[in-house]
Amino acid sequence: MEKHENKILKLITLLPLITIPLCMGLVIFTIIGSLNNNLNNMVKNVENNFINTQKESVKDKVHSMVDLINHKNSIILKKLKDRIEDRVLTAHKISTVLYEQYKDVKTPDEIKQLIITTLRPLQWNNQESFIWILDYNGIFELAPKYLRHLEGSSILNFKDSSGRYIIKEEIQLCKTKGQGFLTDTFTKPNDITKKSYKQIAFVKSFGHYDWYMGSAEYLDTATKKSNKELLKSIEKISLNTNGYLFIINTQGETLLNPINKKLLNTNVHDLDNKFLKDTYAKFIKSLQYKNETFILYKWKNNQTKKLEKKLSYISKIPNTNWIIGSGFYASSIKNITEKEINKLRDDYNLKIQYSIFIGVIAILISLIVSYFISRYIKTRFLNYQNNIIDKTKELKELNTTLEHKVQNRTIELEKHKKSLEVLATTDALTKVHNRYSIMQILIKEIDKANKSELPLCILMYDIDHFKSVNDTYGHDIGDEVLIDMTKVIQKSLREIDLLGRYGGEEFIIILPNTTLNDANIIAQRMRRCIEKHKFRIEKKVTISIGLVQHQKNEKHEDLFKRLDNLLYKSKASGRNTLSS
Ligand code: GH3
Ligand code: MG
Ligand code: MG
Repeated sequence: MEKHENKILKLITLLPLITIPLCMGLVIFTIIGSLNNNLNNMVKNVENNFINTQKESVKDKVHSMVDLINHKNSIILKKLKDRIEDRVLTAHKISTVLYEQYKDVKTPDEIKQLIITTLRPLQWNNQESFIWILDYNGIFELAPKYLRHLEGSSILNFKDSSGRYIIKEEIQLCKTKGQGFLTDTFTKPNDITKKSYKQIAFVKSFGHYDWYMGSAEYLDTATKKSNKELLKSIEKISLNTNGYLFIINTQGETLLNPINKKLLNTNVHDLDNKFLKDTYAKFIKSLQYKNETFILYKWKNNQTKKLEKKLSYISKIPNTNWIIGSGFYASSIKNITEKEINKLRDDYNLKIQYSIFIGVIAILISLIVSYFISRYIKTRFLNYQNNIIDKTKELKELNTTLEHKVQNRTIELEKHKKSLEVLATTDALTKVHNRYSIMQILIKEIDKANKSELPLCILMYDIDHFKSVNDTYGHDIGDEVLIDMTKVIQKSLREIDLLGRYGGEEFIIILPNTTLNDANIIAQRMRRCIEKHKFRIEKKVTISIGLVQHQKNEKHEDLFKRLDNLLYKSKASGRNTLSS
């Protein structure tokens, strides 16, 4: 029991000492964990923020380039128109100046020839554009080099690639409006494919000779020219910004790539490079259902000379087959965010150091606090234990007292019982067996004698003339005589013999295991003893005795009849006698 309590004491002493600092440690551990988590989140945030900014930046760049290209494309036509109008107006001015200068000096044919000769060298775009002159009947006055054979003949019925009588339309326009633009489709002079190209023409009448002059330019040529300039300016812009711009077209050509110039004007399909082909296919596929998108792919970083992950924003350019894009490399994210992340890490390390410092102090404080708590609990426990011990002692004492009380009470009860028993079986005056008790004993002894075949004798005596003793000396003295006589008789008896008061001054003596002979001797000795005894009265006191031996199977009633008779006989024969 004590061992068990010691264990509990140890436990409750150690428990706060262990649990409180442990909880403290756990809290600090959790704080450090959450700080670490926080750091990771912040690092991720920095990276994400940077990525988002980069994404926005490349997206904006691509959008602005798309706008620029759109704008440039939209003004190609206008510029082309301005250009050809300007050429025709210049040619017209020259012609007018020549006419005015020579109209009075030279013949019209001479002037015409002078104008034609003057204007013939005016050619542009590798002889694709030139100044032509026709008269209102469709006669070719000034033809380009490749149509020189038609000069002097009418091309009134000339049809363009789409089948329009284009000369007739031009004459009509000059006649009605004086000048204007027309659109037609023609093959190119130097093109062996004989493909038709859209062409914009400006014509103006030269009224002096019913002539009109014109010039045209292929839209395609103009576009090419413009694109060249455009690509140059985009390249310039690209070189001035972070992350270059690149342009490819849906045919697989690289139109702009300021970093990998080798790719310029090559078609990916012509190259024996699976990687490039796959990347190109990826671009085309990602723009299959949209006009612009982010795309993640691998590309060689010229700075690191390594193949790296690159995130680009690519966009189709409306009305063209161009795709423009710009992006950034994964490594650039690391390089740029590193500084910020390092700062975060330093901050984190400082926080950790601070947390550990605070944590150590907190654990020390908690150790001290838990020491006091533990001591307090221990004291309380010991008090409680002592209290229990005291109470147990008290309880034990109480129990012992109670046991004693019960014991005493039992003894008393036993005594009482015994005294009651004695009272019930003893004659109050003579203190020998009373009638009830001696009769019970007699029945038992008769039973015993019947079973054992041992001799049993019963004796009855009665005081002679006792009435006169009472009468003479008073009842109290009579009582004294009775007591005194009983004592005398008891002295003359053996230990096994049993004496009882049968009633009044009649007594019975049971003599177990005694023959009638021996009983006679005992009875005679008794009678003589009384006869000789000096009682406190002068008068002589004697007794008459009847004595019988129990006969086998004799009932006690029969035995008593015989005994009664014998006693009566003794009385009758003068008293102080024994009859047996
Ligand atoms: P007998 O010789 O014929 O026996 O004469 P007796 O006078 O003894 O006659 P009996 O036996 O008839 O009388 C009994 C008397 O014993 C009567 C009564 O006064 C007296 N006696 C009986 N019991 C007591 C007792 O307890 N105390 C006293 N003092 N006297 C008693
Ligand atoms: Mg009597
Ligand atoms: Mg008598």
